[in-house]
Amino acid sequence: FDVLGERVVQQGGNVHLSAGVRQIVVEEGTATGLEVELPGGEPETQNYDAVIATTPSYVFTRLAPPLPQEYMDKLVNVRYLSAVLVILVLDRPLSSKYWMSIAEPDVPFVAVIEHTNMIDKALYGGRHIVYLSNYPNPASEMYQKSGEALMEEFIPHLRKINPDFDPSWILEYHHHKVDGAQPIIGVNYSESIPSHRTPIKNLYLANTTQIYPEDRGTNYSVRMGRRVAEMLVADSGHPNTDC
Ligand SMILES: Cc1cc2nc3c(=O)[nH]c(=O)nc-3n(C[C@H](O)[C@H](O)[C@H](O)COP(=O)(O)OP(=O)(O)OC[C@H]3O[C@@H](n4cnc5c(N)ncnc54)[C@H](O)[C@@H]3O)c2cc1C
Repeated sequence: FDVLGERVVQQGGNVHLSAGVRQIVVEEGTATGLEVELPGGEPETQNYDAVIATTPSYVFTRLAPPLPQEYMDKLVNVRYLSAVLVILVLDRPLSSKYWMSIAEPDVPFVAVIEHTNMIDKALYGGRHIVYLSNYPNPASEMYQKSGEALMEEFIPHLRKINPDFDPSWILEYHHHKVDGAQPIIGVNYSESIPSHRTPIKNLYLANTTQIYPEDRGTNYSVRMGRRVAEMLVADSGHPNTDC
């Protein structure tokens, strides 16, 4: 992402990190900019020729003005699973495996990914990085749990992977959660996917609910980003230079 950001800047663009979009500004049915809050600043309006929203659908409905019902239904009817993640920093390896998918009902996580069995641990100061995850319903008890409570629940199960494991190996841990981690794909899903061109001119939507039939993943998001950028350039009437 750093390389991508540098390329954007080299080509005359700007990248604003930790900048919150509060609203998409629309005038006479056309998107004209964003109301944004840059770090440490007051909310301000920035003008743009076009806007591509990549937020989850339920965030997009809060940022955009009211949309026609048929399009709105597609945004509000999609349901997501959340993700809870515990990242362990260990002083030694847990196992020799990179990725273990776990389908045991009595184990509270579904994946154990030992990052440093793929990436050189020297990049992490010689420490070992283990990623534990689960994808619960956002309304579930698990999603509400603190990092400390999740550690208590998860850690005893690591002995099933390595019977020698001892909690003293843990140097630190990090807890993250993501509310819109994975759209749930139901029957006839393809009929309810919102189009990238929204009912508002110059406003485009490109998020994980529009990835189908593949499961959502970074590679498909990159593909979608290219498609939507090409769509935007074509709509603008400018010659397509390099996107
Ligand atoms: C737990 C988890 C594990 C995953 N594992 C894998 C994997 O192993 N392999 C793989 O290929 N894919 C994986 N994915 C999927 C991958 O992360 C997504 O497909 C990809 O990140 C989607 O890219 P995106 O740009 O569409 O959305 P995101 O990466 O979600 O980007 C959307 C951005 O919008 C920002 N945003 C939201 N609201 C606002 C606002 N109001 N103002 C400003 N910014 C806002 C968010 O902060 C976020 O940075 C995983 C996803 C999750 C959640």
